[in-house]
Amino acid sequence: MPYAIDLAESAEVKVDLPRLPSVDALLRLPEMRQVLDAHGHAATVSALRSELEKARTSSETPLPSSVELAARAERQLDELAQHRLKRVFNLTGTVLHTNLGRAVLSEAAIAAAATAMRSPVALEFDLAGGGRGDRDSLVEGLICELTGAEAATVVNNNAGAVLLVLAALAGRREVVVSRGELVEIGGSFRVPDVMRAAGVKLVEVGTTNRTHARDYADAIGPRTAALMKVHASNYRVTGFTAEVPQAEVARIAHDAGLPFIEDLGAGSLIDMAAMGLPKEPVVRDCIAAGVDVVTFSGDKLLGGPQAGLIAGRSDLIARIRKHPLKRALRLSKMTLAALEATLNAYRRPDLLMSDLPTLRHLTRPLAELEAMAARLAPCLAERLGEGWAVRVTASDAQVGSGSLPDAAIPSRALALSPVRASGKALIQLAARLRTLPVPVIGRVHEGALLLDMRCLEDEPGFTAQLEHL
Ligand SMILES: *Cc1c(COP(=O)(O)O)cnc(C)c1O
Repeated sequence: MPYAIDLAESAEVKVDLPRLPSVDALLRLPEMRQVLDAHGHAATVSALRSELEKARTSSETPLPSSVELAARAERQLDELAQHRLKRVFNLTGTVLHTNLGRAVLSEAAIAAAATAMRSPVALEFDLAGGGRGDRDSLVEGLICELTGAEAATVVNNNAGAVLLVLAALAGRREVVVSRGELVEIGGSFRVPDVMRAAGVKLVEVGTTNRTHARDYADAIGPRTAALMKVHASNYRVTGFTAEVPQAEVARIAHDAGLPFIEDLGAGSLIDMAAMGLPKEPVVRDCIAAGVDVVTFSGDKLLGGPQAGLIAGRSDLIARIRKHPLKRALRLSKMTLAALEATLNAYRRPDLLMSDLPTLRHLTRPLAELEAMAARLAPCLAERLGEGWAVRVTASDAQVGSGSLPDAAIPSRALALSPVRASGKALIQLAARLRTLPVPVIGRVHEGALLLDMRCLEDEPGFTAQLEHL
């Protein structure tokens, strides 16, 4: 009977096969005690099951030992437990790198946010009267003091600020904007799309390169709610151009009894040009020029947490505060704490450049960067070995986050280039640096991987990463 013979044969084969252990047997291994403590029973069982399943389906020979299976499960659990939001070294040369989280916060802001996380805080509580308070009042006074505005409010980010201002002041009516300012800012912020989302009808005036005062004046009709300017931060129209100055747009708006809104984007509180940096509009100047409501980001040149600041006329700010979107876009206590500490730094101008990392990085002297690059070059050369040339080179850093990409800030970088030119080797090295325990992010430029020194402060931490190369 062939049937019986088959059975006998397979039974015989099975007896000789080494078997994978059971989950229970693995759990009893002394090696597993620490793993169970660190990751808990449920996650450990699930990792062991998945490693057993992998070993079974891959028909691995010889079968992995119990100890090996336990080690694989532990590696899997350790990997899962790692934070996805990893610290990295930003050596891209872009100080406010949106994909790397923009502004690095001051120690004071970090401490304030930590306190707000650790303990109850007087977020909406009036300590003097014992009654209910308003969370905006924590920062409103500071914003007014630093910008000259009558009133201020804050939301989750500048895109939210623009959306809220338009919805509150111009919902179902028209807002007049120059065609030269209908910009897209990185990360899919497009002025016409935000207008639509706010329920506002966009009225475009002028042309891409030239808009005149009469263009604004002629566009005003019975349905007009506001005139608006958008700071076209990340691109520039050059040549035969004309833009209407703020003060003139303000006059046209006010003659018609309309508010004038400006989205500044980066919006600095201090004059960057005075520090030898690319010129950016200063919020106080906008208010002084007659802008009724100005919006700007908290995590760009301000150097604070992600937030959208709205400053301007008190009657308009009151209307903005009452809109339902304000509640949906409100700031958390951590962000408010960090924002308050950041704004406070501006009250001590002599310490500002050292206190706020964004301004500190932007203004570091070249000699300091050059010296650091020179110190690090030999370590890198040694780690990379024969195939790589390491030299200190001039590089162009930039502000980032929608500031002019062609407004370079002179910097210094380590240029790593393969001795025998190879694009593939460069890509591979960049990838290797990204796999370090604290990943190092540089940029490939003209046949070299550049590690820009402008944002590197933790030199010992960086050197320690090189040990893992
Ligand atoms: C950056 C920017 C925004 C978006 O600000 P977020 O804080 O990123 O939301 C909007 N408008 C302008 C002009 C900007 O530069």
